[in-house]
Amino acid sequence: MSGPRPVRAPRGTELTALGWQQEAALRMLQNNLDPEVAEHPDKLVVYGGTGKAARDWRSFDAMVRTLRTLKQDETMLVQSGRPVGVMQTHEWAPRVLIANSNLVGDWANWEEFRRLEALGLTMYGQMTAGSWIYIGTQGILQGTYETFAAVAAKKFGGSLAGTITLTAGLGGMGGAQPLAVTMNDGVAICIDCDPRAIERRIEHRYLDVKADSLEHALQLAVEARDARRPLSIGLLGNAAELLPRMLAEGAPIDIVTDQTSAHDPLAYLPVGVDFDDMASYAAEKPADFTGRARESMARHVEAMVGFMDAGAEVFDYGNSIRGEAQLAGYARAFDFPGFVPAYIRPLFCEGKGPFRWAALSGEASDIHKTDKALLELFPENESLHRWIRMAGERVHFQGLPARICWLGYGERDRAGERFNDMVASGELAAPLAIGRDHLDCGSVASPYRETEAMLDGSDAIADWPLLNAMVNVASGASWVSLHHGGGVGMGRSIHAGQVTVADGTPLAGEKIRRVLTNDPGMGVIRHVDAGYDIADAVASDKGVRVPMRED
Ligand code: NAD
Repeated sequence: MSGPRPVRAPRGTELTALGWQQEAALRMLQNNLDPEVAEHPDKLVVYGGTGKAARDWRSFDAMVRTLRTLKQDETMLVQSGRPVGVMQTHEWAPRVLIANSNLVGDWANWEEFRRLEALGLTMYGQMTAGSWIYIGTQGILQGTYETFAAVAAKKFGGSLAGTITLTAGLGGMGGAQPLAVTMNDGVAICIDCDPRAIERRIEHRYLDVKADSLEHALQLAVEARDARRPLSIGLLGNAAELLPRMLAEGAPIDIVTDQTSAHDPLAYLPVGVDFDDMASYAAEKPADFTGRARESMARHVEAMVGFMDAGAEVFDYGNSIRGEAQLAGYARAFDFPGFVPAYIRPLFCEGKGPFRWAALSGEASDIHKTDKALLELFPENESLHRWIRMAGERVHFQGLPARICWLGYGERDRAGERFNDMVASGELAAPLAIGRDHLDCGSVASPYRETEAMLDGSDAIADWPLLNAMVNVASGASWVSLHHGGGVGMGRSIHAGQVTVADGTPLAGEKIRRVLTNDPGMGVIRHVDAGYDIADAVASDKGVRVPMRED
């Protein structure tokens, strides 16, 4: 009987599968469960509350076994974390096709999902957990860094120096917040109810210090703010208790957001429940727990609105906390915006989004060489240079060394082809897996997050991620995934991902050119269709064909 055990991807150039495309999928699946990468590897949980890489250990073993023997013209089909078939395809076809957590509309809610999950029929794939391209906290660090940089540009003259940000959630993704704020020269108070989450972020140098109490946290924050010194402070406690208290006491907060696991009410600690009792209570009385969690989220969001009324910049960081608070009956939950319409949409219009790659060699030097290549490719891009320099200094690799940066249409394909040439010439020790988050410009329908408040009202139109998955299959990606519910929870999103392997062959070069053009191209056409001028200008400049513009 297979069961929990430590998993780590092989390193080096020796293949354990029949080719690098299959080897890459195998190593990235294993890497997602590396204890350095995954939040709860023994439960196959990678990040985001319950986002898993495989349905159960038996399925994991079957996927590993199948990938090791999968031929160059075969494709493994994965249904919610379980391998269900191997089909003969062809060498341009993906080696793996993944569908995770998809339910028919009327059934797409947590209750039904949990029922089916308990029957062993499905699993929650989040975005990059079930699609095997999670690279640890760096992935979100870059996006969070960009978002706080945009907040600084919009409200604080381009820097967070002299400001205090208040947030909660130091988990797999939320753990990036303190470093993203200090990289923008600000001060952050970060609340979490799990002492382990705080300690882990301090160990990884994403968080600077832990406060002993709320008063201590505020004292440290004000001192650092007045000295215009970046500082991040961890504070143990329940955000739904601490935020209202801080608001009532008039805490001098400039920016408020949140990254607790609010998308899943069973992963949000209700007020009055001890952290140590949380898991058993959620498992034993899920309905009761959900009601109390939602009620607490309503108090949490009410305090966020209070800070907004008092003049702070407040935004939802895509965890559905406004939706949950509304379900609990709080009427002003949507008074503050989501971060995408507030800051990110203009980037999406240019096909920009989170481009990432992992060194299958396991060598950090491969990533350093790709960093250098990228800076040479885009000498004029100052924010890219700043990010790559800071990431080189501050980012602690988790599992296989990896890098992320935001690149747009016309840039990702150039980077990918350059990387493939570096593998071909032997400059890199082994191939790279090039992928991205599902949170991208043209790959997701998520009305509380990526597609909130679209110009033409098309927030809930989910044809786009389906087209995105299909175009990536047709363009030659190495594996393609189509998920439901990632980020914001069941019933609230549909999204797609792709990973394409640069193995140094001319065939990989051809595939990369198509995939890394067409994939961000979906972002451009999606936003042209919705009526965004920036996207229209990009389509004109770069020759992206949109039939409805051609008459
Ligand atoms: P996670 O489960 O790893 O971490 C959540 C953390 O919240 C845990 O450390 C937990 O202890 C803490 N927590 C739960 N209830 C709390 C409470 N009442 N008070 C204080 N702390 C509490 O999840 P994650 O991967 O870090 O993601 C967090 C959320 O943010 C998810 O909903 C995710 O979808 C969302 N998210 C959105 C974006 C985005 O849109 N840009 C990016 C990252 C994460």
